[in-house]
Amino acid sequence: MRWFRHAATTALWLLFTNFAPSSAAIYDQYSDLPKGKEYDFIIAGGGTAGLAVANRLSEDSAFNVLVLEAGTSSIGVFNITVPFFSTRTMLQYDWNLTTTVQPGLGDRQLFFPRGFILGGSSSINGMFYTRGSADDFDRFAAVTGDNGWSWDNVQQYFALNEKLVSPAGNPSTTGKFNPEVHYYDGAVDVSLPSFSPDFDSKVLDAVDELGGVYSYNEDVNSGSPLGLGWLPRTIDSEGRRSSSVTAYLDGSRDNLDILVNARISRVIPTSNEVNSTARHSFRTVEFTQDIAKGTLTQITALKEVIICGGVVGSPQILLNSGIGNSTTLLASGVTPLVDLPSVGQNLSDQAFIANAFLANTTDSYDDINRNDTVSAEALAEWLGKDGKPEDFRGAGQLGDTFANQISYYRVGKELTEKYGDLSAGPTSPHLEIYPGNGYFLTPPPTGYYMSMTTVVVSPGSRGSITINGSNPFTPPIINPGYLTADFDIAAMKEALRIVYTFLNASVWDTYVLEPPAGLPSISDFFDMDARDLDAQLETYIRNSTASSAHPVGTVAMSAKGASYGVLDPDLKVKDVDGLRVVDASAFPFVTCSHTQVPVYVFAERAAALIKNSWQG
Ligand SMILES: Cc1cc2nc3c(=O)[nH]c(=O)nc-3n(C[C@H](O)[C@H](O)[C@H](O)COP(=O)(O)OP(=O)(O)OC[C@H]3O[C@@H](n4cnc5c(N)ncnc54)[C@H](O)[C@@H]3O)c2cc1C
Repeated sequence: MRWFRHAATTALWLLFTNFAPSSAAIYDQYSDLPKGKEYDFIIAGGGTAGLAVANRLSEDSAFNVLVLEAGTSSIGVFNITVPFFSTRTMLQYDWNLTTTVQPGLGDRQLFFPRGFILGGSSSINGMFYTRGSADDFDRFAAVTGDNGWSWDNVQQYFALNEKLVSPAGNPSTTGKFNPEVHYYDGAVDVSLPSFSPDFDSKVLDAVDELGGVYSYNEDVNSGSPLGLGWLPRTIDSEGRRSSSVTAYLDGSRDNLDILVNARISRVIPTSNEVNSTARHSFRTVEFTQDIAKGTLTQITALKEVIICGGVVGSPQILLNSGIGNSTTLLASGVTPLVDLPSVGQNLSDQAFIANAFLANTTDSYDDINRNDTVSAEALAEWLGKDGKPEDFRGAGQLGDTFANQISYYRVGKELTEKYGDLSAGPTSPHLEIYPGNGYFLTPPPTGYYMSMTTVVVSPGSRGSITINGSNPFTPPIINPGYLTADFDIAAMKEALRIVYTFLNASVWDTYVLEPPAGLPSISDFFDMDARDLDAQLETYIRNSTASSAHPVGTVAMSAKGASYGVLDPDLKVKDVDGLRVVDASAFPFVTCSHTQVPVYVFAERAAALIKNSWQG
């Protein structure tokens, strides 16, 4: 079924999306793809990176590009368009993956969110626009020996990706960002918050009162994120989500086809090489549109296969294909073809706790998440008074995400001396904390909350993704190893100390009523015996830590010729031909940020490198 048929069934909501209808071909069935058409590039996974790469490659009309995506089309899916409803879509359009039992978390198993829909995680994420630090990219350049990854050299890719626009309703943004470090002509709409509750001024008053490490940072995306600043989001000027679908799926191209509901099992060396001992060229992709029946289809790219399956999907596809640790592959019943032991290793996620404090207010967003009447009122405000397209205005809380500011901190010297400095460099944080005017996701039935979410953005813990036998469609074994590095628990304790000092500012005196279950009140926190407090924090952290949804590193790049790593700095899989991996799995370290913007940078640079390889 081609794209226009999807559009017909969702015409109303298309009026509310920023996707330009056109002749883009999104097919539900392989049999509907144009007969006899050959593809120069096959992109395995139509997520954040996948659609960005597809867009840039198909800019050249000489290249035919096919994207294979396991999920369904996201075009016209209403909840995805409404930014604040990300609190719902995060659970709705998801792969529903679970980690192994986590010893660092009191043997809990965690939900491990990943987008299962066209646009991948960019269709369901929280839309925070954070680039990371200059040190993050300079570290990528240093570990790969490729200066093309340095902060200065990737500016051109931030520029291709970012289109800073006015927020919905055009509120003043003066002093909330540094215009000189932003870009205005890229693909993804980015804006500052449009709706500012009184809570925002309390946050800024606390910063004024406390100063020091809490100082105001005019722009946390300048390369130097330390301090507290306003948070740009991937939301357009009419209060709608900007994703890789809305930003990069340029449908006016006959040379770009997208097949949804296509679950890739593996990549295969081109047929004349399967039994050869020569270097393999993995240009054939195998997939199914019916897991129950198990019917498999193979399609071969003329030039390259670019795997963009994300931090779980990409290593799973490689391992299913016999690319990985030969010994463990054999034990799993998969014939090893290329011995690359780092595939699936180095899984790094940031530990995350959404600390919710009961607050003396009724002006939080909690009712939207628990009361259908309030939610409907907020929706009416977002839609415009009659819900007619011409009245559309994207106003109110629903045109925003769940945080308006974000802050970054370094841990104290005591920790860096004890554990080493795990940040990317001296101007990079170890910790992220963001205030939210409500409970994260669904609140309890009564009470109003403020959240102070704490994240260890330079984790020491590492884990792995391994396949669970030879059935390529069995969910893989995901072990992020949360809080297995002592640094991470010590750093999270420090994050909580920073939160309590922040909440000790006078502006919160009558505002904060109760701490999260398991944590002391603000006054007790400062009066408690240090060892008792430490023990209480440790228990709370192990019981409360969740995934930040920022896992990376399972198909990491390293220097050419390195004895570890999976990709060369140009994102080609080592020791084979015809195959690259472009997504969050390629990061050698997690950036000190949320990860979508760095993923887009990887996609933009990868596309430039690929074009450079193939354009005459
Ligand atoms: C709930 C959530 C909230 C987040 N919030 C933020 C945020 O606010 N800001 C931020 O910067 N980052 C955020 N992130 C992280 C960020 O969105 C991701 O790091 C980034 O989008 C990952 O991009 P990717 O291309 O690596 O993977 P994805 O975007 O996940 O794309 C992978 C694609 O491959 C497909 N796929 C996988 N396996 C197969 C297969 N076998 N066959 C076919 N297709 C396959 C998937 O369905 C998916 O579409 C969030 C992530 C999640 C999940």
